[in-house]
Amino acid sequence: MTKPAVLILLGPPGAGKGTQARMLEEKFGLVQLSTGDLLRAAVAAGTEAGKAAQAVMSAGGLVSDEIVLAILKDRMAEPDTSKGVILDGFPRTEGQAAALDELLAAQGASIGAAISLEVDDAAMVERVSGRYTCGGCGEGYHDTFKQPAVAGVCDKCGSTDFKRRADDNAETVSARLEAYHAQTAPLISYYDGKGVLSRVDAMGEIDRVAADLAAIVTQVTG
Ligand code: ADP
Ligand code: ADP
Ligand code: ZN
Repeated sequence: MTKPAVLILLGPPGAGKGTQARMLEEKFGLVQLSTGDLLRAAVAAGTEAGKAAQAVMSAGGLVSDEIVLAILKDRMAEPDTSKGVILDGFPRTEGQAAALDELLAAQGASIGAAISLEVDDAAMVERVSGRYTCGGCGEGYHDTFKQPAVAGVCDKCGSTDFKRRADDNAETVSARLEAYHAQTAPLISYYDGKGVLSRVDAMGEIDRVAADLAAIVTQVTG
């Protein structure tokens, strides 16, 4: 049996990680694993981890490795992840990357590809400020770049309930970009050194980026 594919999507807030991960999920039968979504669920559920994470997330900082790793490991232990996973927003620090290597080694698995979505900072603010999400199915939209076919109705599930994230505002975005450059961007050379890095120009249209990603994932999942 072939080992499940483990793909990593790296990129600053608003790069398109979530949008592309959902498309790859549909196209390749992989499972999207977003630590941001898992943390927001923990905050909403009022768990101890969620309580500790909430203030850090609203300020645009990074939640501690300890909390993120505990949440990630629990999710990776669920059976659906055996189909292969797309890690969206994880790892974000060198400590998380080292812990992921250990976790995969213990399972006899390895990283198929770490894909860096490359975008400039100015575009990020615009993308994040216009972002909203379907409350029914989680599909992502944008005020300008990705509107539903029928205004106010989700293309995927028909819901009319949409949400905006509390941390998607201009002030928090600059803190998040800073955290990205200081703590996450060094992972690009970390994965380059391991020979698993691919870079994708993520300034293009959503479908264009999706085509570039699909070509890489096809090679990895073969
Ligand atoms: P991330 O998960 O990296 O933070 P998202 O996938 O949520 O980013 O995308 C951020 C916002 O930008 C969303 O509103 C999304 O619809 C939009 N978006 C994603 N990719 C593109 C793109 N290539 N061009 C324009 N807008 C995009
Ligand atoms: P975006 O892709 O727009 O930055 P996410 O949904 O991935 O948003 O993350 C939202 C917030 O959740 C981050 O700003 C950070 O506070 C926290 N977070 C998500 N993933 C991690 C992680 N791997 N390590 C630390 N904090 C994280
Ligand atoms: Zn929906």
